[in-house]
Amino acid sequence: MISIKNLFEIGYGPSSSHTIGPAKAALYVKEKYTFAVYFKIILYNSLNLTGEGHATKESISRYLPDATYELKKDNKKHPNLFYIIPYDSNMNELDKIEFISVGGGLLLINGSPLIENDVYKETNFKDIKNYCINSKIGLYEYITKNEGDLSYMDEVFDVMISEVRDGLKKDGLLPGVLKVSRKAKALFLEEPEEKRNLISAFAYAASEENASSNLIVTAPTCGACGVIPAIVYYLYNYENVTRKLLIEGLIIAGLIGNIIRENATISGAVGGCQAEIGSATAMASAMLTYINSGTLDMIECAAEISIEHSLGLTCDPVRGYVQIPCIERNVLAALRALDCASLAKSIYKNRKISLDTIIKTMYQTGKDLKAKYRETSLGGLALNWGDDEFNCW
Ligand code: SF4
Repeated sequence: MISIKNLFEIGYGPSSSHTIGPAKAALYVKEKYTFAVYFKIILYNSLNLTGEGHATKESISRYLPDATYELKKDNKKHPNLFYIIPYDSNMNELDKIEFISVGGGLLLINGSPLIENDVYKETNFKDIKNYCINSKIGLYEYITKNEGDLSYMDEVFDVMISEVRDGLKKDGLLPGVLKVSRKAKALFLEEPEEKRNLISAFAYAASEENASSNLIVTAPTCGACGVIPAIVYYLYNYENVTRKLLIEGLIIAGLIGNIIRENATISGAVGGCQAEIGSATAMASAMLTYINSGTLDMIECAAEISIEHSLGLTCDPVRGYVQIPCIERNVLAALRALDCASLAKSIYKNRKISLDTIIKTMYQTGKDLKAKYRETSLGGLALNWGDDEFNCW
């Protein structure tokens, strides 16, 4: 299992699979073929169908401005498959590189991970738990023992705080054709003493920054990036939880997300929104449980409940924009993470489902979802959104 650092990528929204991943691929090709003057990009399936709202072309053009695009659909191929073909000045094709954006900004290049080496021997929660019990160490010690230097998480923490802080200051409409208004600031001012209202405002703030293609941290993806920062920001500013403890909590969250990525998926295009928002909820509730001195069993229980009750959640962003239903979904997931952490404290002794079992179930469910419910904007709300007369955005 690879490092948790790759789960917390710092980059520009609105979609880790559709912006951060393709941007990394473009940079890779630019650096490898410095003499190439022209590029052809072939985008398949989800990258093709939600490309406009997900700003895929804008991300690639940061590094490869001289490119043309071909859009293709083939349900037998991976939903986030794309090719980059570099050409020299005589229009000779220099290569044809296959990329698959597997979620959270992670890439497969010609079938192999771009940069990643395994840093963990254990790959599921059961083995990790047994290792911790046998070695008489806690989950945090287990992670740091395997990861080594995690000072990168300081920057992750800072960006999470700044994305919420920046989002709270802004008014107006989000970019794109949906004309969705920002809600974070108004909500924040509405009931500034009420915990759930504040956490909702903070989740809006981070998600609205993502929807505006601003700098965010994937947690574990761009689309689900508002859940964890909302809770971190609240605990830091309103409950005086220390930066050190919050970073430890983020590291615990990272391990949970990592186990999900290893055994299932964190990509909406592969597993539906249960894989993105469900994973973020599990990570957030595990983080909260750790910060509240919860045991290993409580942490597992909180993460398990979070996924269990996100099962089947479809990915149907309207017109491909990571706005409807994505932003509100982050808000509700942050609140649900509070509830899952709270419930886990009471029920963990009598639970019947393990975290590993629910992850396996989520993955199977995701594979059974029709393609129209996996980040293609061809089904669900993406299909029906125009039916309503009222103009709430
Ligand atoms: S519906 Fe969920 S999975 Fe799909 S783009 Fe929005 S947040 Fe991501």
